[in-house]
Amino acid sequence: MKGYYGVYGGQFVAETLIHALDELEEAFAKFKRDKSAKGELDDLLKNYAGRPTPLYYAKNLSRYLGCDVYLKREDLLHSGAHKLNNTLGQAILTKFMEKRRIIAETGAGQHGVATATAAALLGIECIVYMGKIDAERQRPNLLRMKLLGADVRIVEKGSMTLKSAINEALRDWVKNVQATHYILGSVVGPHPFPEIVAYFQSIIGREAKRQILKQAGKLPDCVIACVGGGSNAIGIFKGFLKDNVELIGVEAGGESLELGKHSATLAMGRPGILHGSLSYLLQDDCGQVAKVHSISAGLDYPGIGPEHSYLKDTGRVKYGVCFDSEALDGFKILSKLEGIIPALESAHAVGYVLKKRDYFKGKMIVINVSGRGDKDLGIIESMEENGV
Ligand SMILES: *Cc1c(COP(=O)(O)O)cnc(C)c1O
Repeated sequence: MKGYYGVYGGQFVAETLIHALDELEEAFAKFKRDKSAKGELDDLLKNYAGRPTPLYYAKNLSRYLGCDVYLKREDLLHSGAHKLNNTLGQAILTKFMEKRRIIAETGAGQHGVATATAAALLGIECIVYMGKIDAERQRPNLLRMKLLGADVRIVEKGSMTLKSAINEALRDWVKNVQATHYILGSVVGPHPFPEIVAYFQSIIGREAKRQILKQAGKLPDCVIACVGGGSNAIGIFKGFLKDNVELIGVEAGGESLELGKHSATLAMGRPGILHGSLSYLLQDDCGQVAKVHSISAGLDYPGIGPEHSYLKDTGRVKYGVCFDSEALDGFKILSKLEGIIPALESAHAVGYVLKKRDYFKGKMIVINVSGRGDKDLGIIESMEENGV
């Protein structure tokens, strides 16, 4: 069925949004066939954003682990993470639909910054919803968005974090749908968003496959990526789904796998509906969406994209967990051995490989470094002070 991955996905939204989603689906189908829109995107990805990002053979880390490690360097993409692949694509799609206003939600501020960046570049009005607690925690990103010309609206309702920011953005969309496109930040939400975001992020996997074949002369044994909503992981996995390559998604185990202390949706959740689609979801005994925790704000989401739920059930992708302290190990090792300070999100993928080093011994692996770690230095500092 349209918009489903197995039983997951769908469009669980208010009637008023069905029309907007249909319109988006139609426009996206046209966009994919439009040479000039695609040409504009390719040009900006190359000359503005810095694609292709390097695939780097990490010699020191390889020697340390006893396996061959290649790093896909999304941390080198403009604005510091893979998120710009999606926001540039969707901003061009906005123009293609002849809409003049973009809205977005943001948790840590990374997706807000990437959306504000694309909107500034293309001269489109941009409104970003951000929970009050997040705005206080992530002041530098708040300032960045304002500098980029975005109208940042602080949400003081509900959890005052990402979940309530998404709810406010959806409310705005219902009211202003005619002139407005909602740029969702990950492979989540109602159809066709998971498909659109995966399409724009799949460039990571296409490049990685071409690069590894050129550099190593063969496909890797294994590709590893961290999973929040799941967009950087889907992006790199798409390049290898049909190959005999093991794919591993790493979720944030937080402090422990006790309810409320992690955000390991696939490991600990069960199917439920959040933000317009059916997918694995962290819920308490009464079916309420659970409180989640991770040191990395980008992984701090109780849901996950529907395609990941499907890939888990079919067994094509394996999903593992990396705890806060293990992610911190990954963060430090990559910084010290390779001179690359990764985002705490990406450090979960590295930390997972460190803890399972016996499993990876002698193999050739690709780790997706989804972003750079400058944004996380304050968190690292306070963790050190607290002796984690
Ligand atoms: C937002 C973010 C993530 C998590 O989002 P996905 O959709 O799961 O990729 C991971 N890494 C970085 C650097 C991020 O900014």
